[in-house]
Amino acid sequence: MSTIADGDVVLFHYTLTNDDGEVMDTSRTRGEPLPYLHGASNIVPGLEKELTGKSVGDTLQVKVAPEEGYGPHNGMDPQPVPRGEFPGEIPLQPGVQIMAQGPDGQPFPLWIAKVDDEHVHLDTNHPMAGKTLNFDVEIMRIREATDDEKSHGHPHGPDGTAQH
Ligand code: ZN
Repeated sequence: MSTIADGDVVLFHYTLTNDDGEVMDTSRTRGEPLPYLHGASNIVPGLEKELTGKSVGDTLQVKVAPEEGYGPHNGMDPQPVPRGEFPGEIPLQPGVQIMAQGPDGQPFPLWIAKVDDEHVHLDTNHPMAGKTLNFDVEIMRIREATDDEKSHGHPHGPDGTAQH
């Protein structure tokens, strides 16, 4: 029976709750398990580590400290930006990730913290930065990654056939 190792694409269901027991995210309501490429840092390090060696059908509960999750909170508050500066195709909703460009042209992520009549408040912290992550996981499927997936460092859909 195959167990999860580097170079495998793993499909798993998960529910992520915070320390207050609130559900932050779950694959269950989407119906489809999440695919990721093991060993390629597609998911937070604290979870990836615990999945090594697991098999299809295994269920596990994993508590991930911020350092092995989305990192510590950097202490900076969200900054307001006028709504008009956002292209129309970006959904202006809390939690949405936006890629910005630094002075050196390097892309970096920002997250929408809140939206009001005039401003979008952008945060340099991931919404779960500084928080302990509580994952409830069920392994649904394990398959070997295709050569394309290995060279790209991410899965191409559940069956490795997605084009892009
Ligand atoms: Zn790709």
